[in-house]
Amino acid sequence: MCAADQRQILVETARALTRGRTGNLSVRSGAGFLITPSGIPNESLQPDQVVFMALEGSCPGEQLKPSSEWRFHRDLYLQRYDIGAIIHTHSTYATVLACLRKPIPAFHYMVADAGGEDIRCAEYATFGTQALSDNIITAMQDRKACLMANHGMLAVGDDLAEALERAQLVEELAKQYVLALQTGDPVILSSQEMAVNLEKFKRYGKQNEEN
Ligand code: 13P
Ligand code: ZN
Repeated sequence: MCAADQRQILVETARALTRGRTGNLSVRSGAGFLITPSGIPNESLQPDQVVFMALEGSCPGEQLKPSSEWRFHRDLYLQRYDIGAIIHTHSTYATVLACLRKPIPAFHYMVADAGGEDIRCAEYATFGTQALSDNIITAMQDRKACLMANHGMLAVGDDLAEALERAQLVEELAKQYVLALQTGDPVILSSQEMAVNLEKFKRYGKQNEEN
């Protein structure tokens, strides 16, 4: 896909997220990645405002300032070749759990979509810092999503469509978990059962493979 199309899809994906100046997103592109500029509300973002950043963290030419969270976007692309797109949001229920510093355990089998038997909560560090990026890299070990303490969450995918679907799923799971906690004492699936689910997820949705 050409960079112009990627810019357009990035803008459309940003509009599908929460309104306002919270969150940021990026997609791997050429020798670097395209990332949302800092402080522009998602609903007013234009394709030519999207910033290209090289993998060593420089933005060539005259461009807007990249998202203040460019460090964790860059570090994830540098360290994880499986990641093609990243979405960070302050969606409500994920943020509620993140403020309690509560990971999402295997209360539902769909937690496996994030790559493991739980969705971890990255330790707190000030927004936009290298310390926050380091904490996210730790929480994302063998995972495709994590919460961020007192802040929000992030989800990754092969492309922006997959990252968006996963970000929406994590928010739904967070909502279900919060409601389950309010209603009683959710039963947590065993590591053994989650291992079975993780194995099934490798084939789930692929029409030519049996579940
Ligand atoms: P930016 O507008 O700089 O991307 O910041 C928003 C945010 O969510 C910081 O964590
Ligand atoms: Zn944020």
